[in-house]
Amino acid sequence: MPKKNNKKNIFVLGGVISGLGKGIVAASLGYLLKSMGMKVTIQKLDPYLNIDPGTMNPYQHGEVFVLDDGSETDLDLGHYERFIDESLTHNNTTSSGRVYWDVLERERRGDYLGDTIQVIPHITNEIKRRIKSVNKSNKFDVVITEVGGTVGDIEGQPFYEAIRQMVLEEGRSNSIVIHTTLLPFISAAGEMKTKPTQHSVMTLRAIGLAPDILVCRTQQNHHLTNKLKKKLALFCNVENDNVFESPDVDTIYEIPLMLFNQGFDKKIVDKLGIKNLKQHSQINYLDKAIKTYKSPKNKVTIAMCGKYNSLHDAYKSILEAFIHSGIKNDAKVEVKWVDTEKLEKDMDFKVFENIDGILIPGGFGYRGIEGKIKATQYARENNIPFLGICLGMQCAVIEFARNVCNLSESNSTEFDKNTSSPVIDLMPSQKKVIDKGATMRLGKYSCTLSKKSNAFEAYGKINVNERHRHRYEVNNRYKKQLVKKGLSITGVNKKLDLVEIVEIKDHNWFVGVQFHPELKSRIVNVHPLFKDFISAAIKFKS
Ligand code: GLN
Repeated sequence: MPKKNNKKNIFVLGGVISGLGKGIVAASLGYLLKSMGMKVTIQKLDPYLNIDPGTMNPYQHGEVFVLDDGSETDLDLGHYERFIDESLTHNNTTSSGRVYWDVLERERRGDYLGDTIQVIPHITNEIKRRIKSVNKSNKFDVVITEVGGTVGDIEGQPFYEAIRQMVLEEGRSNSIVIHTTLLPFISAAGEMKTKPTQHSVMTLRAIGLAPDILVCRTQQNHHLTNKLKKKLALFCNVENDNVFESPDVDTIYEIPLMLFNQGFDKKIVDKLGIKNLKQHSQINYLDKAIKTYKSPKNKVTIAMCGKYNSLHDAYKSILEAFIHSGIKNDAKVEVKWVDTEKLEKDMDFKVFENIDGILIPGGFGYRGIEGKIKATQYARENNIPFLGICLGMQCAVIEFARNVCNLSESNSTEFDKNTSSPVIDLMPSQKKVIDKGATMRLGKYSCTLSKKSNAFEAYGKINVNERHRHRYEVNNRYKKQLVKKGLSITGVNKKLDLVEIVEIKDHNWFVGVQFHPELKSRIVNVHPLFKDFISAAIKFKS
């Protein structure tokens, strides 16, 4: 007997290929359900064997998204937060590695009392426990669960099996399976092909999961027709009007509107039997935001001085924060990618011609550092609005110490262990750390701002909380010297006595932050520092 309950589960499973925007579909659905007044959360199940993405190379996995509680997570968690404007927790993320680790730990403790440990039921039970645990203390009306990768992946099998069991146990009327697929357009044949979707659905059905809804990714100028819908419905065993389209768009924030216009959210709440919902409260906001995004009054160009320039996913949250802050300032934010390794070699500052702002993002390791320090110097000397994030802030301090305080050997001990002026140094709590996973200063810490600062002007309050991911910090031994020469320390963590924000007086807008403001910028709630950085860039340009 399926349970009688009000808790509803929506599973989002991908087919055909990865990178189709499955996470955006999950996040958009979250946005639409919240807009109707529902309490909703989204979780990600990642079938890879790493415990979390914290130790993965950004080239392989994109950026690591850090939550308030310090969890290092997949960048899809960033999309979820940006769309539903809620702060998620470690309960919203899991991986095969985490699941196996926990089960094997219990086995070693003897908790299974001599049982033979198997994928079914031990691993699948642990996956189900984790899926349900997100709703334990919060009482969400709906939990959306996205599985990473695509149906048919070997490592994903236990997750699909656990979901199959859950749908049965929780009741089919309480669950929906959404399958996201691709409808490729084959130009030689001049038509869109449904076969990959058919095969993907066959694979799903072979493991006992029948999709209720298909969301098909289409390419520009090749849209889902009624004829195609009918064909997909017939071959994939779904109802005609349960086939939806997710087209190529200029910005991902269009997807909730596109789905809304097709009646996607209505279909889902009807199928789940959810009644008494409010009128949508957030559709107009998004509609207006998209209009501004498409025809803004202003345009600014920001130089992004990083080393992972060929993989934009490594800086996903910053790029999204540019979209949010651009819309708030009625401006298009164009990004000019400046390769700091190249800058370090050729010292060609022509790259900064016609630039309205310089951003140095976070990062690790020595490669490209001298280029970043030079870019900081250029911003300081030429009065160009500057935002330094984490490593970017550390570069600003090193540059200031070298060129203004005459400590020419200044460096971070991350790059030169024996520097005579370690203005950036390892936190004492980090000195004995050996393991690399989940050992940095991670997650939410408080920061107290000084009045009369750009930071205070932006936030409009004294106490703020921001997310961190670093091992090194400003060395307090140099604070006096730096301040004497005009570097303002405008944000501190009082409890740990750490510098959180530095600024330069008599500059258009120069702010370096030890934390990551981009992780807290959302489409309905832009981060104040990004908003003011872009506004300073607009002023600088005019
Ligand atoms: N590598 C620096 C540190 O560990 C900066 C880290 C970052 O930018 N996230 O402190």
